[in-house]
Amino acid sequence: MTLRSINPANEQILEEYSEYNDAEINQILARSVQAFALQKCLSFDQRADKMEAVAKILDSGQDKFARILTMEMGKPYHAAQQEIGKCAWVCRYYAENARLFLADQAVKTDSLRSFVRYQPLGPVLAVMPWNFPFWQVFRFAAPALMAGNTALLKHASNVPQAALAIEEIFKQAGFADGVFQTLLIGANKVEKILTDNRVKAVTLTGSEKAGASVASTAGSQIKKTVLELGGSDPFIVMPSADLDDAVQKATLGRIQNNGQSCIAAKRFIIHTAVYDKFRAALKQKFEALKVGDPMDNATDIGPLAMANIRDYLNRQIDDSLKKGAIRLTGAESIAGPGYFFKPGILENIPWDTPAAQDELFGPVACLFSVKNFEEAIALANNTRFGLGSAIFTRDENEMEQTIDLIETGCIFVNNIVASDPRLPFGGIKASGYGRELAAEGIREFVNIKTVSIY
Ligand code: NAP
Repeated sequence: MTLRSINPANEQILEEYSEYNDAEINQILARSVQAFALQKCLSFDQRADKMEAVAKILDSGQDKFARILTMEMGKPYHAAQQEIGKCAWVCRYYAENARLFLADQAVKTDSLRSFVRYQPLGPVLAVMPWNFPFWQVFRFAAPALMAGNTALLKHASNVPQAALAIEEIFKQAGFADGVFQTLLIGANKVEKILTDNRVKAVTLTGSEKAGASVASTAGSQIKKTVLELGGSDPFIVMPSADLDDAVQKATLGRIQNNGQSCIAAKRFIIHTAVYDKFRAALKQKFEALKVGDPMDNATDIGPLAMANIRDYLNRQIDDSLKKGAIRLTGAESIAGPGYFFKPGILENIPWDTPAAQDELFGPVACLFSVKNFEEAIALANNTRFGLGSAIFTRDENEMEQTIDLIETGCIFVNNIVASDPRLPFGGIKASGYGRELAAEGIREFVNIKTVSIY
């Protein structure tokens, strides 16, 4: 199998790589085990020095790395620069805080002394998606390596340049050979690697289908998994909201990363009292968006990352329209070259359509109107997903009730959902389980060892 790096803005092949063969994979796994023997013995200070060095390389190479992202998966260059900056942040955050998060925790019991000690597990496999090619990897790798594990990256097949660049960054920063390695392989090689005794755990960020497959293989081997899967996040707007602010953030929340973000606002649940105003203002914003060359700083939306993402989105929209949804604006492919897509809005969406039931991974907003707060929460929760959620309201009671009632891994009040190294991130229901970031994230891939001394 050949892994191809294709520029989605013009469909030109940038680079091609042969998939690693079984002998190469075997060597990589062996190196990961050897490296673990050294890595687990380093002090937090020693690991932190190297992680700081990673952050510095990211800072100094920001433009170079951002260019790889934009060329390989089409996100606007300014957003790619921000992504690299955020990766440096998460490296510094764990360089500073890992010692605190993983310090022995004393607990008073009947014994003379009892405490909890956190110890690394060994080589951890990370199966990652293309939509945030650096951020998804660094938010796993920074805590995993600071905890003393080693990492094996199976990145999405369409971002091999990003995968190799990340491996190089960890090497340059002084992490020992084998601490962070990229496996240039397709998805069909994951099962064999995961059943190898040398691999101790796996994290996957991606689709439900991939998550279920990896989790069932890991389950058969009794190996720890963290799953960060898809979402269809609700964005609720109540009558007391600052409507201009809500429309502004709704636009940003839906089109960020060309609409290809797990935590993008996807279902807009609007109170009837403000529905017409919201709808008109959102339409105006969407129609003013500039779709085009992602390297151009004036561009709001670049191409979708792959032809199959565009084609699948088109099928979901066609199916929804056939069943009665109404296209308010856009929501269709733009003729090539490049996988460009016109940002759009659907409304009057029947419940049995992909627009209501599934994740639309592109710049398409789905509008729903509700008569009251209870209906808004019921609609927001009526989905198999449970990743993020947002509500726009000035009513304290509605805020409190939403925090209690919403069935998602996070709730943002009067803002769009965003990840932050200082806060845990993850979902419930079909959006996955486990957490990344903050103290919770670094404690996923450790042995939480209970010690009791009598
Ligand atoms: P995907 O097809 O599931 O791919 C993600 C990764 O899984 C890729 O490395 C892919 O490899 C691999 N993979 C696919 N099928 C596999 C299988 N059966 N066994 C093992 N590995 C497999 O996902 P995508 O469509 O590229 O990414 C978009 C999805 O990711 C969306 O649903 C989005 O919401 C979700 N996502 C979630 C989060 C979060 O934090 N919750 C963040 C970002 C994205 P190949 O590329 O070689 O197929």
